[in-house]
Amino acid sequence: MTYVNLDRAVGVLVGAAAGDALGVPYEYGSRPLPRPGEEARMLGGGLGDYAPGQWSDDTEMACVIAEIAATGADLRDEAALDRVAAGFLRWYDDGPADVGNQTRAVLGALRGTAEAGAAAKMRARAAELHARSGRTAGNGSLMRTGPAVLAHLGDPEAIAQAARAVSGLTHHDPQAGDACVLWCLAIDHAVRTGELDVRVGLGYVGPQWPALLDEAERSTPDRYAANNGWVVAALQAAWSAVAQADGLEAGLQAAVHGGGDTDTVAAIAGALLGARYGGSMVPGRWRRLLQGWPGLRARDLTRLAVLAARRGRPDGDGWPSAPTIQAYAGSPRATVPHPDDPGVLLGAVGALRPGVADAVVSLCRLGATQAPLAGVPAPDHVEVWITDRDDANLDLPGLLADTASVIRDLREEGKTVLLHCVFAEARTPIVAAAYGALVTGSTPEAALRRVRAVLPSARPAPSIVAGLLAMAE
Ligand SMILES: [Mg+2]
Repeated sequence: MTYVNLDRAVGVLVGAAAGDALGVPYEYGSRPLPRPGEEARMLGGGLGDYAPGQWSDDTEMACVIAEIAATGADLRDEAALDRVAAGFLRWYDDGPADVGNQTRAVLGALRGTAEAGAAAKMRARAAELHARSGRTAGNGSLMRTGPAVLAHLGDPEAIAQAARAVSGLTHHDPQAGDACVLWCLAIDHAVRTGELDVRVGLGYVGPQWPALLDEAERSTPDRYAANNGWVVAALQAAWSAVAQADGLEAGLQAAVHGGGDTDTVAAIAGALLGARYGGSMVPGRWRRLLQGWPGLRARDLTRLAVLAARRGRPDGDGWPSAPTIQAYAGSPRATVPHPDDPGVLLGAVGALRPGVADAVVSLCRLGATQAPLAGVPAPDHVEVWITDRDDANLDLPGLLADTASVIRDLREEGKTVLLHCVFAEARTPIVAAAYGALVTGSTPEAALRRVRAVLPSARPAPSIVAGLLAMAE
């Protein structure tokens, strides 16, 4: 699993959560859709009266699955499915602000069910509902399907089985299972190759799908506004948005602009867009805001995705589950003011301590107890997925531009900012230069010269400098 693959695995969860929170305000006409060309924004509200940046049931249920996948569990095992089913019931007991009709009909009848045997009981209840109504192909299993990929990355057979099994807990109709399988195999392909190809899974689903996908590519997402609560139309709307968009942000905007079940279509689209473009390409201004049940934020989704993709095992430094990263011992405590803006302090991870600044932008992995060290509110601690290794960033110029704009946002909010990596050698000077270029209008090259003059530790590799210089192109 390369660093780039991991970034994309993180994108599956963070991209879906971002789409969810972006679509929440507009769900089923909760407020007028943004006009063409106008940006959808994370305003909160919607059917569940959510806070700005708060995700809804789509991501809440995905978190249940992700937490089990993060233990390294095989999601095809009945014991793991029992845990997923029991997790859904705990979520339902917590009184979520919004629950899909079909999910409510299944979970509501099973309150108080013990974990052992919960999956079988849930499947039986879902089958009964299908026999009675004949209509159980809502989009409620597709919206949460991403974690089924992370548990089995690179194993299409296992992914197809896991996706269908998790879907089938609440959604008996084979259309729902098919949609989850198709989407999950596309996500797996994107994580591994960086390609968007929703047809890689056609061998695992019914014969009706090629024509449905063709139609989605000829249409725009709004074509499905009236019926995208149906899993087939939701997949078509999401694929229409993804296939025609240039980048993650544009794809999520297109999904929300399509209307109808906006949060769910954008959550579905976001899982695939994140798999293609990486969690690092979910804009920092969105990552700051993202939060939701069960008390998680973007950094927690990152942890769950990394652990699931690594089959429950942290890396050699214990990240992302270790309380601290021992390799950082000896990192200096000193900071220096940014040459273009003294309200931005440049330093190493050793500088993290209470009172150092009002906000923190971290450019390195942090242990679970290191993140709160600076004592700043969670939305003011922005963690950026960036590496100083050659060719290990998916879009370094784009990431630098986004991080510079997040620092500018924090400064415009009147906050002082600590910008740090491990030893302030590569990432800190490069991001500082990107910020300097943004606020002074000078070239990134000139901004880097000014940063080097105050930060003698700076020695970024030529490939990283090339990413900075490419910003100007
Ligand atoms: Mg929702």
